[in-house]
Amino acid sequence: RELPGDPRTDTFPREVLHACFTKVSPSAQVDDPQLVAWSASVAELLELDPQEFERPDFPLLFSGPSPLVGLSPYAQCYGGHQFGMWAGQLGDGRAITLGEVLNSKSERWELQLKGAGKTPYSRFADGLAVLRSSIREFLCSEAMHSLGIPTTRALCLVTTGKYVTRDMFYDGNPKEEPGAIVCRVAPSFLRFGSYQIHASREKEDLAIVRTLADYAIRHHFPHIENMSRSESLSFNTGNEEHSVVDLTSNKYAAWAVEVAERTASLVARWQGVGFTHGVLNTDNMSILGLTIDYGPFGFLDAFDPSYTPNTTDLPGRRYCFANQPDIGLWNIMQLTRTLSSAELINDKEANYAMERYGTKFMDDYQAIMTKKLGLPKYVKQLISKLLNNMAVDKVDYTNFFRLLSNIKADPSIPDEELLNPLKAVLLDIGQERKEAWISWVRIYIEELSASGIPDEERKASMNAVNPKYVLRNYLCQSAIDAAEQGDFGEVQRVLKVMERPFDEQPGMEKYARLPPAWAYRPGVCMLSCSS
Ligand code: AMP
Ligand code: MG
Ligand code: MG
Repeated sequence: RELPGDPRTDTFPREVLHACFTKVSPSAQVDDPQLVAWSASVAELLELDPQEFERPDFPLLFSGPSPLVGLSPYAQCYGGHQFGMWAGQLGDGRAITLGEVLNSKSERWELQLKGAGKTPYSRFADGLAVLRSSIREFLCSEAMHSLGIPTTRALCLVTTGKYVTRDMFYDGNPKEEPGAIVCRVAPSFLRFGSYQIHASREKEDLAIVRTLADYAIRHHFPHIENMSRSESLSFNTGNEEHSVVDLTSNKYAAWAVEVAERTASLVARWQGVGFTHGVLNTDNMSILGLTIDYGPFGFLDAFDPSYTPNTTDLPGRRYCFANQPDIGLWNIMQLTRTLSSAELINDKEANYAMERYGTKFMDDYQAIMTKKLGLPKYVKQLISKLLNNMAVDKVDYTNFFRLLSNIKADPSIPDEELLNPLKAVLLDIGQERKEAWISWVRIYIEELSASGIPDEERKASMNAVNPKYVLRNYLCQSAIDAAEQGDFGEVQRVLKVMERPFDEQPGMEKYARLPPAWAYRPGVCMLSCSS
């Protein structure tokens, strides 16, 4: 719906009723903006000539002041459950969609500037983003993609040349930080909350839920639009045996099931690689099953199921590493409730979507962990014992799995030598713990021998799924510290390393190191939502 007034100034915070978006133009102040880094692989998706990044006006185009031709920028309206509580309208408070690029493969890529100024959804905040959090979002989007994990992408990162005031959580004193803008890219930024908001309002708004569902299906789930999912599915509901859910008769049910499955498979991948999102509110859940909104995220260093990188998440730890699978389901439940209240799906279909979430998560998670161990089949006991051992001894998650591929399937290796390949990650453990590990490795070797897979072959397949390089928080912080001093080289180097996480990359080993002592200072491993 067209709003009155000049879209560039019409950004007073308000409830935007009966609408999915508001036209609004970037308005962040800039002063000699600079290009910090850009992603060659995203440029390729957009079929953007690398020479474009050298244009003197590039930073002006991608920070807002020089509008790109042919665009009609807007901010989306959405709501969400934050930390389990319905929060009402949130919306793109500092993200402004510029428009969509349709490439020669007919792929649709939406471009969005994050930190480009206020919108009607900015509430009490400034619509801006700081360099610190923009570097984190830029690097992690690309790192996750290279790890094979569905995610929104990042084309480029520019500084605004202006300062932004932020309340830092650990000393309570406001701090001036350099401002920056990331250009995010995704087929769509629709979230669960994009649907929830309309179902939470007047009855007439339920029609918007349907319209927006139709939109998503038509553009992003065309196979459902054509109803190619032709099987009828039966399942157990516990009290009602063999209920049949026919996904061919209701496209919205087929869609809900697919969103549930994509979400389950996404969370399984996070668990596999040790990624903790940190703020799994329903407004941060992509309808396409992408990782979206990189705030206080963290990769596990030492394995700790209760790890949360988000200070706002203490002491409840709702969004800690081990809770992510359950939170995914809780969020799917909110989406199915929304679709039910708009009468797009019935209770049986809603239950079926949730059931599929559970099954898909377990299937994918088990398959991922099995591959990480280089085994042909899932061995529950072996994996649960391993994770338990890792938690007790605070073993580095990434480096452990990488080193594990050096274990030989040779039962004749004596106890004294058995842990040699894992020496670098089993630090300072006493005799008792050593014995626990020896006993685990013995069982592991039995499984390896039984598999009959040659050592070298297994090592290669394990190294293709167990990354050597992940974007540890301290690596982000080094890049941030340098960039805040005007040196963008480290951001670019970290990007290059994270683009090939499974390769050995001789000379780059320092990016695979355990966090140094300074990494445990506040603001590095633990982050707030303030960004
Ligand atoms: P998040 O916790 O990052 O998912 O953000 C929750 C909501 O706050 C979203 O609606 C954001 O757009 C909004 N928000 C976060 N930071 C800012 C900011 N600096 N200015 C305006 N809105 C913001
Ligand atoms: Mg968000
Ligand atoms: Mg955020």
